[in-house]
Amino acid sequence: MPKRKRTKIVATLGPATSTKQILKKMLDAGVNVFRINFSHANYDDVKEKIKIIRELSDTHNYTPSILADLQGPKLRVGVMKGDIIVNKGDTINFVTGKPFEGTSEKVFMNYENFPRDVKKGERILLDDGKLIFEVVSSNSKDTVTAKVIQGGPLKSKKGVNLPNTNISLPALTEKDINDAIFACQQEVDWIALSFVRHAQDLMELQDLIKEHSEHKIPIVAKIEKPEGVENIDKIVAYCDGLMVARGDLGVEIPAQEVPLIQKKLVLKAKTARIPVIIATQMMETMIDSLTPTRAEVNDVANSVMDGADAVMLSGETSVGKYPVQVIETMSKVIKSVEKSELITVPQKPPHIRTNRFITKSICYHAATMANEIEAKAICTLTNSGYTAFQISAWRPDAHILVFTSNKRILSQLSLLWGVKAFFYDKFVSTDETVEDINKMAEERGFVQSGDMLINLAAMPITSKGMVNTLRVSQI
Ligand code: PGA
Ligand code: MN
Repeated sequence: MPKRKRTKIVATLGPATSTKQILKKMLDAGVNVFRINFSHANYDDVKEKIKIIRELSDTHNYTPSILADLQGPKLRVGVMKGDIIVNKGDTINFVTGKPFEGTSEKVFMNYENFPRDVKKGERILLDDGKLIFEVVSSNSKDTVTAKVIQGGPLKSKKGVNLPNTNISLPALTEKDINDAIFACQQEVDWIALSFVRHAQDLMELQDLIKEHSEHKIPIVAKIEKPEGVENIDKIVAYCDGLMVARGDLGVEIPAQEVPLIQKKLVLKAKTARIPVIIATQMMETMIDSLTPTRAEVNDVANSVMDGADAVMLSGETSVGKYPVQVIETMSKVIKSVEKSELITVPQKPPHIRTNRFITKSICYHAATMANEIEAKAICTLTNSGYTAFQISAWRPDAHILVFTSNKRILSQLSLLWGVKAFFYDKFVSTDETVEDINKMAEERGFVQSGDMLINLAAMPITSKGMVNTLRVSQI
């Protein structure tokens, strides 16, 4: 069978991806996860797109995941009155309270406590850090006065980053709470939270999900603030996936520090055996051009080699001219590098004796053994998806085929490196099941006659317990 892409692609939905036809073409080109960016979403529009995506999954052989991305405590300026340019040395006021049209002297800021949280000398970065201001004073009520350090066009509604300020906003704003509830109602597969600072932020979201969804919805923590990086160990313990959100991260900390943080975060995720997404500007040029830069191709390739589960497209697919071609190009880059021996994963076997220790150990050994005996597939039966996370993290050469009767897991697992999930709901006896799913693997071209294959199962099968059995068979 043709070489399958193991690293997953996350594509952000937007005006450029509004028809069924384009969404289908994106799936054909290799998209695994569709991201809904709630910074710009309209509920009716989101509902319609989710419906189309679910229809495509039912009629074609795809199980794409839907990732709802919550904006979090994102700071923005208000709307401007006409074209405004600020110059180095100018003084400008950031004013909270009621929104108004901004001028070169005075702009609205959507962060009520700003005048009380900010301190003299702290930086205010605007529009991806293109504009830089320094706080001169605050009246502690509604106005912060700043001087322009780096000037330029001051545009409406642009994002504001305050890298040095201890921001008192809650992790989940009112908008996030509404968006999260809506996402639960739409039964999305994953929910991402922006600007995560502490593990506590994730617990709040977990509680909200528990309240509004019958099923667990796993959470991706977007790391894009210095506090997120500092508290990464605790954060990793309370989320189900990470995103290296390089857009805001590269403004909040010096951009030259992002590459090593990317490596560190990938390693953290791999050690915790949760998926990690690398995001932002991966193929930026392809927003208007059919050819990516060499640097972009290298960036995607290096992210794959670092050990990313998924690489993400934002503007490239949401507003770009070539939402399908960019995925085709990205898929080609991924396929050409991901077989390399230069890709390594930390090979320390699991050792902490948690209650899942046996399952973890079996998954580790299945991956290692598959490489040793050159097994072509590892097949696992799962209800929670747990073993898929565990096997995927070891990056075996073999296909990771997951069989589940839990329809929600089917699409959820699409974010995980190398994982392909199938619906299966016959649980008669282990012997029969193993034979059954091995036949499915063969029919779908993942294995051929003579190939070795590893099966993981929980015995006795009817009790649907934890995986405790590894079996090797030959087709
Ligand atoms: P965003 O997150 O696109 O929601 O801002 C990604 C990033 O900041 O890189
Ligand atoms: Mn961001």
